[in-house]
Amino acid sequence: DAAPVPTGKRVLLAAPRGYCAGVDRAVIAVEKALDLHGAPIYVRKEIVHNKYVVETLTERGAIFVSETDDVPEGARVVFSAHGVSPAVVEAAEARSLVTIDATCPLVTKVHKEAVRFADEDYDILLIGHEGHEEVEGTAGEAPEHIQVVNSPEDVDSVTVRDPDKVVWISQTTLSVDETMETVRRLRERFPTLQDPPSDDICYATQNRQVAVKKLAPACDLVIVVGSTNSSNSVRLVEVALDAGARASYLIDYAKEMDEAWLDGVSTVGVTSGASVPEILVDDVLKFLAQRGYSDVQEVRTATEDLMFSLPKELRADLKQAG
Ligand code: SF4
Repeated sequence: DAAPVPTGKRVLLAAPRGYCAGVDRAVIAVEKALDLHGAPIYVRKEIVHNKYVVETLTERGAIFVSETDDVPEGARVVFSAHGVSPAVVEAAEARSLVTIDATCPLVTKVHKEAVRFADEDYDILLIGHEGHEEVEGTAGEAPEHIQVVNSPEDVDSVTVRDPDKVVWISQTTLSVDETMETVRRLRERFPTLQDPPSDDICYATQNRQVAVKKLAPACDLVIVVGSTNSSNSVRLVEVALDAGARASYLIDYAKEMDEAWLDGVSTVGVTSGASVPEILVDDVLKFLAQRGYSDVQEVRTATEDLMFSLPKELRADLKQAG
């Protein structure tokens, strides 16, 4: 399809955008836990990487902690959508915590791949951002087999035991194009490099990137709603700029919009990361409408209907509660 052609003041609204199935499930898990068991419910790390979501759940009685050590013995704790390493599960058991695991099933899938390839004694190259919670969780499944590759520039410093027994896997929220470049360079070094059994970059990450890529060439400005620690949101800014947007900014709230960004701008693209509630996008659209950008055209590149069932611990609690 041809990219939209710019005319007058208007907004191109990316679709899909916003909540993915894993985020939806994780947020509902905390809400249901609060409904069923009352406050406080402890949550290890931000349940999803979004300021508004964390603030809203905090108001309802969730207490966000950085480690299980910060949770009182025997209390109830939710593990975030980004997943945890086996060491975290053990630490929670040692403190007799009642756990609810809201790890996205698509992250769990990558954990299982890591375990399987470690069992087969592969050197596993985990493409992802060092220090990101998801990467810590996945790497923790087999620390002695896994090394993290941050970017294409990192490829030269990778060392492996047997160049013919190497597999790559990845974080779920990376840039598809940059990851493929990293893989290309890895394969130059290790020609028999094995691919993961299926895409690790998840459907939601891919769909949001495809949508923003489609609208960006026609945009003077692309606004991405999302938090700075949200990997997939940060990637959307990069993808927008790579695809030809003249400028792109990441904001948590409409109030962070700078009037100067709109100088001489006729077409504004709007999208949001996978952890962003639609209400925050609505606020940005209102801000834009008040400044003459009231013609909103949706640019849809996929339709999503995936849903995940709630964590099994919660389903059991819900059943018991009748
Ligand atoms: Fe799961 Fe992808 Fe959403 Fe992460 S972005 S929670 S992997 S669906």
